[in-house]
Amino acid sequence: MHDVIVVGAGPGGASAASACASKGLKTLLIDEARFPRYKLCGGGISEAARKLLGFNIPKNIIEREVSAFRLTRRNMAFEFRPGRRLITMVLRDAFDTFLAEKAVDAGADFSQGERATGVRRARDGMEVTTSKAVRKARCVVGADGVNSVLAQHVRPAFGKFELALAVGAEVPAPAKFMEDEFGDTLEIEVGSVHQGYGWIFPKRRVLSFGYVTVLPFASGLRHTLSEYIRKRGFHGNYEVTGHMIPMPGRLKKCWADRLLLVGDAAGFVDPLHGEGIRYAIKSGRLAADVLAEALESDDLSAEALARYGALCREDFMDDFKWARRLSRIIYPPSGLFFWLAECNPSVIENFVETLSGENEYEKFFKWSAPRFPLFMATALGKKIVKKTGIAGRH
Ligand SMILES: Cc1cc2nc3c(=O)[nH]c(=O)nc-3n(C[C@H](O)[C@H](O)[C@H](O)COP(=O)(O)OP(=O)(O)OC[C@H]3O[C@@H](n4cnc5c(N)ncnc54)[C@H](O)[C@@H]3O)c2cc1C
Repeated sequence: MHDVIVVGAGPGGASAASACASKGLKTLLIDEARFPRYKLCGGGISEAARKLLGFNIPKNIIEREVSAFRLTRRNMAFEFRPGRRLITMVLRDAFDTFLAEKAVDAGADFSQGERATGVRRARDGMEVTTSKAVRKARCVVGADGVNSVLAQHVRPAFGKFELALAVGAEVPAPAKFMEDEFGDTLEIEVGSVHQGYGWIFPKRRVLSFGYVTVLPFASGLRHTLSEYIRKRGFHGNYEVTGHMIPMPGRLKKCWADRLLLVGDAAGFVDPLHGEGIRYAIKSGRLAADVLAEALESDDLSAEALARYGALCREDFMDDFKWARRLSRIIYPPSGLFFWLAECNPSVIENFVETLSGENEYEKFFKWSAPRFPLFMATALGKKIVKKTGIAGRH
């Protein structure tokens, strides 16, 4: 009998298991895969996520540190280089293995190649049925990703507007090309898909290409990705795979008697650009805090665990409402945001602070909305100067 069983050893589960074990709880972490396992992901760790980790990522796991990005739209492009690190690139097989090892170091038992098939309440706890055994614990954390088996016991399935499809490919690239074309720069492409974007995240030896958009607009996404890769000069040698990303953008029920959901299983992904690792780590830690207290007071009822939902709402879910609003401004095909951002560097400067956790979407929205006429005037002024060559009076 464990105190906690954590199902799924991605960033959410590994963080929950580490935190539970560090608090002295007898913790079992299980995953259907054997680590290191491949996980389709851009592998971009924001500065906010890095700070949350609270420990250094070993050098051999860091594929590249990015301190600039290039925004492209049709045949236009501009680069933004704020002079500080923005994102750390990792490959998820190595990164997730490292996090799982941290959980083991903290004292968690880790069972790999064990698939959870169901969970049910027993007299004095929970029973998790797996491909190997029936496991017992006083409470359970569902960290089993977007297709969570455990979530079926907590909330209805995500609707099609709450899910995004992401497709990606790791494309090997010559070292010289990587340095000349990318170096410390990642690329974001807007305008090819409705309500979504494409990316090129440079790693050591491969470029991770991808596209993401909400499910109803996702037809032809693989083709769009292949075209993107072809236009950047690559042919053949890669495989395109796809994976769902949950982006409900508002809090869904993520607690039940003796059961909490974290990370993708709970739908904790930024609905503007799909960052999920940061919220998987954060929610894993919050779940451990709430469960430790509930175990201590021996009240693991849904009513007591509802506090976890409130903490997640307060910490990040409330701000996702503003992220959704922004997505309606940033993604429309008119390219208005692209143009305004290109002509007004302060827009991008403020926006990237949301990636480092120094700014919130609500604050960014409220900062930019009243300045919109000014941004428009600046952009129009620059357009007139460009077209006429007349550089107004100073
Ligand atoms: C193409 C793509 C690109 C992305 N790029 C980024 C990015 O650059 N940065 C970022 O922050 N986020 C990115 N994300 C989102 C990010 O990958 C997820 O939000 C994050 O992995 C969520 O972590 P998690 O621990 O909740 O779930 P996961 O990482 O999905 O881990 C779930 C784990 O549960 C295991 N599992 C599943 N079912 C069972 C079961 N029944 N029994 C036992 N084990 C089970 C799986 O094997 C897996 O190890 C991207 C997603 C996609 C699809």
